Amino acid sequence: MDAELIYLDYAASTPVDPRVHDCMRESAEATCANPSSTHAAGRRVQAIIANAAGQLAGLLNVDPATLVWTSGATESDNLAIAGGARFRAHRGKHIVSMKTEHKAVTDVFETLAKEGYDLTWVEPGSNGLLDPAVFQAALREDTQLASIMYVNNETGVIQDIDALGTICRERDIQFHVDAAQAVGKVHIDLAALPVDLLSLTAHKFYGPKGIGALYIADRPACHVEPLLFGGGQQRRIRPGTLPADLIAGLGMTAEIAASRIDDDLAHLGTLREILWNGIREVPGVLVNGDLAGGFPGILNVSVEDVEGESLLLALEPLCVATGSACNSRAQEPSYVLRALGRSDSLAQSAIRFSMGRPTTSAEVEFAARRYRDAVARLRELAPVAAA
Ligand SMILES: *Cc1c(COP(=O)(O)O)cnc(C)c1O
Repeated sequence: MDAELIYLDYAASTPVDPRVHDCMRESAEATCANPSSTHAAGRRVQAIIANAAGQLAGLLNVDPATLVWTSGATESDNLAIAGGARFRAHRGKHIVSMKTEHKAVTDVFETLAKEGYDLTWVEPGSNGLLDPAVFQAALREDTQLASIMYVNNETGVIQDIDALGTICRERDIQFHVDAAQAVGKVHIDLAALPVDLLSLTAHKFYGPKGIGALYIADRPACHVEPLLFGGGQQRRIRPGTLPADLIAGLGMTAEIAASRIDDDLAHLGTLREILWNGIREVPGVLVNGDLAGGFPGILNVSVEDVEGESLLLALEPLCVATGSACNSRAQEPSYVLRALGRSDSLAQSAIRFSMGRPTTSAEVEFAARRYRDAVARLRELAPVAAA
């Protein structure tokens, strides 16, 4: 990584752990065979994949047979929601989610609306947390699928997945959870959680880009129609030659994460405290989300009377995000923060700091100083009327 830059965008992507690199290289060197082949070389690849499935299953406490490999969380979300809703079209046409979800969820919902599905967007509180009673009130006889994310990628807010899933189970509603920001970062025990479908991706927790998985609970009511058609791989749920090296990498990523979730959480908690203590005195600064109920790797703040794009430039060499990384090219304020009731100008000024395993106290101290100086300088240069 570029030495002059201070990377604080771990919610967008993370560096690959060296042990994961080693594992992928070893897998690539072991064989080039197609895992669908029945000869000895093919069986060697099958063993590599089975080992990785065991590692990922261990992290989530599930049977390895419940895991389907995909290209990442975008594909997992699409397969879960479009595939899940179509599989149960007979059950009803009403599906429920939130405006604060990732685009990989909301855009699939919009697509399903064009196919005749009826959408309800449930509203979180101004801190981003969804009240289970509000969720329950939105459900109908014909509600067949709900999708609520675990850790929010912009604010870090953690939803009460257990309570929401319990409500879904009582009403025979298939429950999907986008856990791209949660897997390997917070404890998830799928043997104990009432979750039917769960999306994850390796590159958000120190693995390679381009590989993820969808967990599909082993229940009769729980299944998805495929989105892709081809060979018979993965019980036809997701055909295509499996990328064994990437899968081996995801397996190792999961094994490493399982051994250090608590240490990572403690480290991130310390860093977030240093960062927040360093900027909380800035006049007009406020937290987007909920510090107490949030994942400690993310701190999202808005500030009054400062323009977001200028702030981002003034913060260099910090690599941080305005709004969500995928939408930061668009100058429009974050749709997630707008959904939390933030004004356009406050949403516009939002900066997401996201810390990771390599982040140091010195880096967040520097980041806090840079933030204070940048806000002061911009206010001096171009005082903006209060919104
Ligand atoms: C990153 C992310 C995705 C997309 O994951 P990819 O593997 O990059 O496709 C989906 N949902 C959330 C919450 C994310 O943070």
